[in-house]
Amino acid sequence: MLNEQMYQYGNKSSVIRELFAYGLERKKIVGEEKVYDFSIGNPSIPAPTEIKQAILELLEEPAEVLHGYSPAAGDPQVRGVLADSVNRKFGTHYTADNFYMTVGAAASLSISIKALANPGDEFIVFAPFFPEYAVWVETAGAKLLVTPADTESFQIDFDALERILGPKTKGVIINSPNNPSGAVYSEATVRRLSELLERKEKEYGTSIFLLSDEPYREIVYDGLVVPFVPNYYHNTLVCYSYSKSLSMPGERIGYIIVPDEADDSLYVRAAVAGAGRALGYVCAPVLFQKVIARCTDVSGDISAYKNNRDLLYGGLTKLGFECVYPQGAFYLFVKAPEADARAFSERAKKHDVLVVPSDSFGCSGYVRISYCVSEKTIRDAMPIFAEIMKG
Ligand code: PLP
Repeated sequence: MLNEQMYQYGNKSSVIRELFAYGLERKKIVGEEKVYDFSIGNPSIPAPTEIKQAILELLEEPAEVLHGYSPAAGDPQVRGVLADSVNRKFGTHYTADNFYMTVGAAASLSISIKALANPGDEFIVFAPFFPEYAVWVETAGAKLLVTPADTESFQIDFDALERILGPKTKGVIINSPNNPSGAVYSEATVRRLSELLERKEKEYGTSIFLLSDEPYREIVYDGLVVPFVPNYYHNTLVCYSYSKSLSMPGERIGYIIVPDEADDSLYVRAAVAGAGRALGYVCAPVLFQKVIARCTDVSGDISAYKNNRDLLYGGLTKLGFECVYPQGAFYLFVKAPEADARAFSERAKKHDVLVVPSDSFGCSGYVRISYCVSEKTIRDAMPIFAEIMKG
């Protein structure tokens, strides 16, 4: 007998992946230009040239250094460089020891959850949320609790959160800038969340960890500043990735920060190392550890995303669609003009417009439009959206 749970996860891919695969097949039939694929969050701007330069320079290093193992947590020198960079940006005082290198945010999250969870523990997420959280929480033997969306602001509904926070709450997962809503948590939201969690920790005599999923940290518009969560809440674990910020999702590189301020931080760090070991996530790709260490001050040019955001938001709202105004990431969360978002997505699909129904994000009635596409795709799709809107 196989493991039934694993079989189920493997046998049914996510709605996003299904739509993306459909799009690839459809393009073969009707042509690339005729399919408006807004399904997946694959960065459309190229990785900064400094990345290529760093790779080329590193290729000159001795092969046994470049292609050899690093320690399980990552190259200590690389982790030191990252710590210095984060300290400069956010006024923290981390060292290499606070960092664990990972293969992207997916590993950062799954390791952190596995490191913390005991059977029966609860992890709270906020709808709409990245669907893989459910997989990582369930496979760690814990229970996922969903805080309903605040569909006015897409910040946190604190009353709803307070109702489900309890003595079994081990972790709370936030993702700002957010996939799929594009919302960015304000400083007031982060402050209020911290105060609530601290109050609940005291009330229950427990540690409640805040897992801050930050692959879009640098993708914000209009001069907005994303609060650095550990500066507000002591029990924060930062789950970072370079997949989106430096357009290198295929290279699978990111990190976890366990600050000294976290309760029992030495134990948590050891548990993170243990979870990495248990999941087989040791020694993240060494070439790319070294690449990012050389590129700590490099940032992607996100002006194309901003341009797409303005074009799509402006165009769709003009057509009568109700959209959340996205302040970050590269997703537009649009209210489906009919109650059933799946039916709307199917209807759009008939026009070769691929948008993801929101149900798998734990929030019904919306579709997610990934605007990490070419400007031409958005311009060409606009008359089709007009047609779809007419019904
Ligand atoms: N978390 C969120 C919110 C995401 O949107 C993604 C990827 O789309 C991930 C985590 C996983 O990122 P990575 O590719 O770095 O594993």
